[in-house]
Amino acid sequence: MGKKAVKFGGTSLCDAAQMKKAAEIVRSDASREIIVVSAPGKRTPKDEKITDLLLRMEKTKTLEERRTVFSLVRERFDSLIRSLMLPLDFSEEYEDIFWNASGDLLISRGEYFCARIFAALLNYRFTDAADTVFFGKDGMIDTIKTREKLGKEILAHRRVVIPGFYGSDADGKIKIFPRGGSDITGAIAADAADAAIYENFTDVSGFLLADPKIVSAPMTVPALSYGELRRLSSMGATVLHADSILPLYEKKIPVVICNTNDPSGSRTYITEKKNTRAIAGIVGQKGYTLFSVSAPNIGEDISESQKLFSLFECYTKSVYATPRTVDACGFLVRSADISEQKEEIVQALRSAFRATSVTIKESMALLSIVGEEQPLQCAKLLFETMEEMEAYPLLLDGGADSLGITVGFEEDHLAALIRRLYEKLRISPSF
Ligand code: ASP
Repeated sequence: MGKKAVKFGGTSLCDAAQMKKAAEIVRSDASREIIVVSAPGKRTPKDEKITDLLLRMEKTKTLEERRTVFSLVRERFDSLIRSLMLPLDFSEEYEDIFWNASGDLLISRGEYFCARIFAALLNYRFTDAADTVFFGKDGMIDTIKTREKLGKEILAHRRVVIPGFYGSDADGKIKIFPRGGSDITGAIAADAADAAIYENFTDVSGFLLADPKIVSAPMTVPALSYGELRRLSSMGATVLHADSILPLYEKKIPVVICNTNDPSGSRTYITEKKNTRAIAGIVGQKGYTLFSVSAPNIGEDISESQKLFSLFECYTKSVYATPRTVDACGFLVRSADISEQKEEIVQALRSAFRATSVTIKESMALLSIVGEEQPLQCAKLLFETMEEMEAYPLLLDGGADSLGITVGFEEDHLAALIRRLYEKLRISPSF
């Protein structure tokens, strides 16, 4: 077996007891050589993640407020150092950060200190992502430079702990990934190290068939393909960041999602292979708005579509569906992205397209049943259940990638529909 790249999430490192568990997991398998960490997460439901505290600190208006919030951050790290009895003292660095750090540098310090502590606990080398993970001028990861620098560092020191969530931009300044981005660092490290596997330790036992906040104790999905994982993550499944799969494609490095609190329990394997199960997951999200424009030929004429995309580009960066027929086009966006500009968009659509009508449908939910192997079965199950529940599909998308089927409907139906779908799946012998 080759070496493993292992990433621990925030709840796996939230206090000394969790850190000890994570360290035990690393020590129990000598091939766990490359370790990537998140910042410490919540210890209780009401607690604050370190990254959230740092974001709050960034927004404070007075020095006094800044000091109050930062003292919470310091205390979290100092209590870890005390409880784990480590010979570390960050006092000087804290002062420097308090007076000088802002923006991405400040927000990245959760991962930075966490990695320093975990490296000391494991007796591994601390490898700063600032010196080994690089973004290019386009804001994307500079794969060549990162592979070279991080690969060399790993080869030279073998057992390393790397802070997740940040790297250096083309000017040498700290730049962070999107929220949850330590998963991406883990994948980048797995790629740079030529790891045999990327283990992602979190607080759930793998990828669950449905959201545990909606369905009680859902089953773990034992295997997913990279494509299915991307679909599920992009639709709101939060276990693994959707972009963390991208660095793994080329070398086809598999990912395993495991639970730090139950390391030998259920887990999910994610590989490039097609999943053999009919259903890989049910995911849904509320909070979408559908704009529909009717005008002669709008749905067929490419230049009209270009105009539509350009118009929406002024208001949002993301689009989730664009249903069309010959004389009508829809544009589905996240309501939160356009909440202030709804009326303005309607006016702009009216004047840009000589529209016969422009309508808005708010409070919509999207639900996807993902299953690469049997899309027909997914569709059948979904429509039968929607009919039973009298949930009318306002939008339908078979998916350009044949990975499953997505429907849009009134968001009030979402939780009940997911519960019913899950129930049917659970008792069906074919799943
Ligand atoms: N600490 C960051 C966050 O809370 C990154 C991560 O945990 O992956 O989003």
